Amino acid sequence: MDDSVDVLIAGAGPAGAQCARDLAARDYDVTVLETEPEEGFPRQSNKSTGGTFPSMLTAFGIPDDVVMNFTDNIVIESPNEHFTQEQPGGVLDFGAFKRWLVEDGREKGAQFRFDARVSNPITEGGEVIGVQYDGSREAYADVVIDATGPSAPLARALGVSELKRGKQAIGIEYEFEGVDLDAPGYADLTDAMMLRLDHSYAPGGYAWIFHTGADTAKVGLCYIQNESYRRYVDTDRTVDGYLQHWLDTDPRFANAEQIAGRNHRGSAHIQPPGSLCTDGFMAIGDAVPSIDPLWGEGIHKGMRSARAAAITADRALTPDDRDTSAESLSLYEQFWHEYVAPRQNARLMMTELLYLAPNERYDDLLRDLNRLDWETLSKANEGNKLAMLRLLQREDLPLLARYVKHRLAD
Ligand SMILES: Cc1cc2nc3c(=O)[nH]c(=O)nc-3n(C[C@H](O)[C@H](O)[C@H](O)COP(=O)(O)OP(=O)(O)OC[C@H]3O[C@@H](n4cnc5c(N)ncnc54)[C@H](O)[C@@H]3O)c2cc1C
Repeated sequence: MDDSVDVLIAGAGPAGAQCARDLAARDYDVTVLETEPEEGFPRQSNKSTGGTFPSMLTAFGIPDDVVMNFTDNIVIESPNEHFTQEQPGGVLDFGAFKRWLVEDGREKGAQFRFDARVSNPITEGGEVIGVQYDGSREAYADVVIDATGPSAPLARALGVSELKRGKQAIGIEYEFEGVDLDAPGYADLTDAMMLRLDHSYAPGGYAWIFHTGADTAKVGLCYIQNESYRRYVDTDRTVDGYLQHWLDTDPRFANAEQIAGRNHRGSAHIQPPGSLCTDGFMAIGDAVPSIDPLWGEGIHKGMRSARAAAITADRALTPDDRDTSAESLSLYEQFWHEYVAPRQNARLMMTELLYLAPNERYDDLLRDLNRLDWETLSKANEGNKLAMLRLLQREDLPLLARYVKHRLAD
């Protein structure tokens, strides 16, 4: 046995590092194993646009230094319409944010071990008691947490969350300078985070421009290669090809130049969670997946799942006779469904309907958004079915039929 701690976390992303911060602040002995080397961290895992909201920054005490730009509005675009909603937000420098989480976790007493690739759980009598990492090395703990994002080696091996290939959204993003953020015929994107529903740029998904200050912006797109994608894809363009197509055809990028070294790519699964824990083990963040299916907000969701797991571990480890059984850890599942991702199934339904709809319907939807009251919209966004119904039209029947067919084929 190499070593043993209270809690062992695989992955130093927003979920894993946040869970370590919370547990170290409660004086638990916590070790995080991260596959990437510390020098230059994060590299491959520097994948996110980092769009977030003050609710996340406040709840988790994130400093302003890691925010590239505070934004005032959310804009939704379709091919011919747009809708602007006043809503304060912030675009993180995701790399700086990840490094800050590690630094703060260390200050609170957590150990971070880089260059440590976790491969398998170690079990005894059906209970998870540790992990194998870097080939044959072993580490042991009372509670093991998988926070490795979409790779989720521990959760997969334990059959806890079954991330499906067909539900994996792929995303790519470049950072640019010279972007025209207030171009004629388009919404003003100054200090805004914009999401674009348009199958010609992101078939079965969405594209985005997030203003990062002056004339700079993060520009990207994502989609799942599922039925919506197959319906709307009309060439054999790759995800990079789609981004290039947008850059070539949207006048806002006519003078834009890519900022060297600032490109990001990654994936996340858009699917309902399976079970989230077993004896001695919990899965958090994108390993579940916790990401919001509709708009891809995964940072706040992942950190909330981290906090729910930290509270659960604290409760399981507090009595002299520690109880880390699946039953004891099932408190985490309860928190997850009530606090981390309430109404997840309704939001998944709305997501599938949205991305199955054709471009013309997007224009209609945005006209409706401009007409309807904000309360209906925010309720629909929260997965309220009555509010969702108010956004549907009689012409949507074929769309609903397609949705049902699609679900039955799942
Ligand atoms: C292109 C793109 C844009 C996005 N934009 C936004 C956005 O604007 N706003 C938002 O809220 N969310 C966004 N997301 C989603 C968000 O980034 C994720 O939901 C979030 O990063 C999930 O955090 P996590 O800690 O669960 O996983 P991850 O961020 O994936 O972190 C996992 C960590 O585990 C490490 N790891 C992986 N495998 C192993 C292993 N075997 N052993 C040890 N360590 C391992 C990785 O190196 C990484 O550091 C975006 C995602 C993508 C792909």
